[in-house]
Amino acid sequence: MTLNDALPPPRALIGGDWVATPQTLSVEAPARGESLATIARCEAEHVDCAVAAARQAFDGELGDWQAWTARRRGEWLETFARAIEADAEALAMLECADTGKPLRQARGDIAACARYFHFYAGAADKLHGETIPFAADYAVMTLREPFGVCAQITPWNYPAQIFGRCVAAALAAGNTVVLKPAEDACLSVLRLARLAVDCGLPPGALNVVTGLGSEAGAALAAHPGIQHLSFTGSPATGTRVTQAAAVNHVPVTLELGGKSPQVVFADADLDSALDAVVRGIIQNAGQTCSAGSRLLVEDACHDAVLARLAERFAALRCDAGERDPDCGPLINARQREQLERRLDAAHADGIRTLAQGQLAEGAPAGGHFVVPRVLVDIPDDHAVLHEELFGPVLAVQRFSGEAEAVRLANATEYGLCAGIWTRDGGRQLRLAKRIRSGQVFINDYGAAGGVELPFGGVGRSGHGREKGFEGLRSFTQIKTVAIRHG
Ligand code: ADP
Repeated sequence: MTLNDALPPPRALIGGDWVATPQTLSVEAPARGESLATIARCEAEHVDCAVAAARQAFDGELGDWQAWTARRRGEWLETFARAIEADAEALAMLECADTGKPLRQARGDIAACARYFHFYAGAADKLHGETIPFAADYAVMTLREPFGVCAQITPWNYPAQIFGRCVAAALAAGNTVVLKPAEDACLSVLRLARLAVDCGLPPGALNVVTGLGSEAGAALAAHPGIQHLSFTGSPATGTRVTQAAAVNHVPVTLELGGKSPQVVFADADLDSALDAVVRGIIQNAGQTCSAGSRLLVEDACHDAVLARLAERFAALRCDAGERDPDCGPLINARQREQLERRLDAAHADGIRTLAQGQLAEGAPAGGHFVVPRVLVDIPDDHAVLHEELFGPVLAVQRFSGEAEAVRLANATEYGLCAGIWTRDGGRQLRLAKRIRSGQVFINDYGAAGGVELPFGGVGRSGHGREKGFEGLRSFTQIKTVAIRHG
């Protein structure tokens, strides 16, 4: 199949119908800076129709998704997971062209997307309530019920993976979904939605309204007909959607950014640590909320680590995703220009680039490439240590002893991930407890993205948990039933 054959038509999915809108938006291929496709530009009225359809599919005329047995919903999720796997090459090709990410990463993302549907297929019928001892003449139980219509506003960095993470869990728990994917990259999501319909998903159980954040996104977040909102994206937009949803008292799960530290002690296996440090910052060209963007290195191994790091970064190549480089382009000109401005400001403040990668020979002109680099000589209070740069830029700091490592690791308003590299078992646990973060990895970073592991942030990184069983529970609410039997 060619890329052209894989492109979805510019339509939104509303109540099982593929709807054309009066206006469309152009989607750019980040590796070339040229138009790749067009998508529907949904506005408030389309969002209204999508929310109404999702309600109808939840417990109305379009179907009764919440009344399907959990096992039947699980069987549908399993069928869909297999359909994703059967279409994986076309989906990966789209994801690669649309986001610019290396093809092997795009393939991994599609496999992860399918894995979410497998996992939640098996988990759907294992959501249990409790019975509660209360008084002799009472029987009390809790029921775990779906919310109803779940709104999901998702970003451009991992369109297919985040589709899996949010949609699979919400549907498995018996909710229906209105999804607003990012305007910068949503082609894989549209193809996934078509596959879902082909697999027999009842009309309205999943609706996809493409369009601008300020139009379709804002209308969805403020909609009185939604019962839950999941948002993954920037902190500023997270604040906006939370404020909009608060008007209707809609619970919100927020997955925002990070400024995650990797802490390397001198007793660590430095080669493994460096593999993970490099991977943790160049993956998806650093446009990952969980990017390990700060490297804290213990005095005793500082010079050795920097020497090896310089060698590794100098060998990195940037290119278009389909040529499977180390690092692809940034998503658009705005992100690239913003990062370049921040790097210029850092250099003007005396911060030094220790080493950097290169643009591959023959890389397409017009792509939004920023080569990966390592920054050193950074004052503790400098913005490059505190602002999420969303690019392949690693900021290095030096520390002496555990207490300083903890202080520097926690010197951030974010708290998404941390990597700790040491062979000392006591130290592993002490740091795991003292670092403020939703995830801590010991002698690892990211646990290969395992879909089974709960994921989420503290502080400015957001709240609520997605992925794993916790992610399924978070798409349910507890109803207490107290029976007085005399
Ligand atoms: P970025 O600025 O990197 O595109 P955002 O956090 O703004 O990141 O985007 C994440 C998602 O939020 C996208 O789907 C985007 O369309 C959507 N979005 C942007 N602005 C708003 C808004 N005001 N209300 C609701 N959704 C929005």
